[in-house]
Amino acid sequence: MTRRYNFCAGPAALPEPVLEQARDEMLDWHGAGLSIMEMSHRSPEIVGVAQRAEATLRDLMGIGDDYAVLFLQGGASTQFAAVPLNLLSEGGVADYVNTGQWSKKAIAEGKRFGNVNVAASSEDTRFTTIPARETWQLSASADYLHYTPNETIGGVEYFWVPETQAPLVVDMSSTILSRPVNVADYGVIYAGAQKNIGPAGLTLVIVRKDLLGKADARCPAMLDWKTAADNDSMYNTPPTYALYLAGLVFEWLKGQGGLDAMEVINRRKAEKLYAAIDGSAFYANPVELQSRSLMNIPFTLADANLDKAFLVESEAAGLLNLKGHRSVGGMRASIYNAVGEDAVDALIAFMQDFERRNG
Ligand code: PMP
Repeated sequence: MTRRYNFCAGPAALPEPVLEQARDEMLDWHGAGLSIMEMSHRSPEIVGVAQRAEATLRDLMGIGDDYAVLFLQGGASTQFAAVPLNLLSEGGVADYVNTGQWSKKAIAEGKRFGNVNVAASSEDTRFTTIPARETWQLSASADYLHYTPNETIGGVEYFWVPETQAPLVVDMSSTILSRPVNVADYGVIYAGAQKNIGPAGLTLVIVRKDLLGKADARCPAMLDWKTAADNDSMYNTPPTYALYLAGLVFEWLKGQGGLDAMEVINRRKAEKLYAAIDGSAFYANPVELQSRSLMNIPFTLADANLDKAFLVESEAAGLLNLKGHRSVGGMRASIYNAVGEDAVDALIAFMQDFERRNG
């Protein structure tokens, strides 16, 4: 068996020890004589799996008792609608910051449900910057401010937390668990699982409890965070297998030394790759220096006519999914937690060799 290096933006690489454990437990989970997938979500086994996953995540991220942890479905895209349905009051306004394709989708969905004020946008720089906080045109009393701490497509990441009166609501899909955050800074954190959490199909929402119970009367029960919180995320059948795998990923992260240790590794990986890009006239990354993502690193080749050869040859070298998003072109390396430093080293070696042959 040869496992190859996977730079996919999501569903992304999973830690190999997690996959091995899942394989070993597949047919008979802990002597139950059943697979996890075949058990009732009301069984003590699954309830225990869910409780352990939540406890480990609370420990990893330092989530206080004043926050509910919800394991939902529908991906981050469903939360683009759930956020206004839960928080945007009749006649109220929500502020949004637009830093890329994912912000835009959240804004478009928000507009379906009420008043949205786009307080700042970096569209004029083709989403290669983050507008300075002083330039944001915030509403006087917004119900919340939404932003995207890491834009997966543009490769733009905030390394600061804006100060605002309104509660911060953040789409952390592609940065969550890559480094420590102060959960108390946020009203709501949400994320699709398929990058740093586990397999697709699971959606995480961490919500400050005083923000529960404000949902619009028309909010579907499945999107109402309070319904989920009151039912321990088991209002309906949760994605039990994805939840089990997420729990294994959380334990793996603890074994790696937690999020402080992951940040050290992730910074080292990203710095190496940016140094290789910046040190060459053949490759380029357009993002302003202080906002370069640790997780998603887009880069272009000096001659776009070589893109195809780069992709064919990198794949043959065992480096998968390097094609950039169609909206920005070029390449993108997503280097989430489960993408090891060896993968980044192999990518850099390939890039240097490709440049030697084609530069
Ligand atoms: N937000 C961000 C930042 C993302 O990267 C993605 C997926 N790539 C999404 C939202 C959409 O997530 P989902 O597919 O889980 O709906």
